[in-house]
Amino acid sequence: MDIIRENIEAINKKKNEITMRAGREPDEVLLVAVTKTRTADEINAAIDAGITDIGENKVQEIIDKYENVKHVCWHMIGHLQTNKVKYIIDKVSLIHSVDSIKLALEIDKRAAQSGIVMDILIQVNAAKEESKFGITSEEAEQLIKDILENCKNIRIRGFMCIAPYEDNLENVKVCFRDVKELYVRYSAMEHPRLNFKYLSMGMSHDYEAAIMEGSNLIRIGTAIFGERNKTK
Ligand SMILES: *Cc1c(COP(=O)(O)O)cnc(C)c1O
Repeated sequence: MDIIRENIEAINKKKNEITMRAGREPDEVLLVAVTKTRTADEINAAIDAGITDIGENKVQEIIDKYENVKHVCWHMIGHLQTNKVKYIIDKVSLIHSVDSIKLALEIDKRAAQSGIVMDILIQVNAAKEESKFGITSEEAEQLIKDILENCKNIRIRGFMCIAPYEDNLENVKVCFRDVKELYVRYSAMEHPRLNFKYLSMGMSHDYEAAIMEGSNLIRIGTAIFGERNKTK
């Protein structure tokens, strides 16, 4: 488990270097440990090493681990099916993957029943291809409008994107830049239920580029816990 602590320290060090170089403060960038496929013991080791926020991409894993993991903020970062919202509405503090009004309406309904306001991010598909999930930047305006109009129990906190997995870092950076631009544009919008705080971009292989392009929330799995078992 020492390796988990060492990895987290190495990522924090790199994160600090990049943010300082960019003239930003290190603690502006939140490190979310992505814990999919990991055991509660591994996750608790990460929490002991300073992790305050963890991300899961499957509802079932959140349900299975919830009681066995020390107290932290849970993030739903994966594709979320409408019929599963009810299982996590009282467990997660931020849903990163909202990409349809149908999903938003369900989150709104369940949040109302629980007497809470749910924080969400809009997932943008910056690459405009491959990825099955996320909306285009052109569609973002309509979705934001629809959510603000119809979902009184949702607060929009920013955007999330998954860059295309490729070696050409320039293409990756262009995606990050596009989403950052979108983030800046909508940050200026005034609405009681739109309060931007998170630009969620950057994973193990591209978080340095993401921070350089303005990310303030990185989602890191492999670089903390090692390679995942690919059969899961
Ligand atoms: C798995 C996952 C990550 C983390 O990926 P790593 O390459 O292991 O750092 C980040 N975001 C999402 C949405 C994921 O599903």
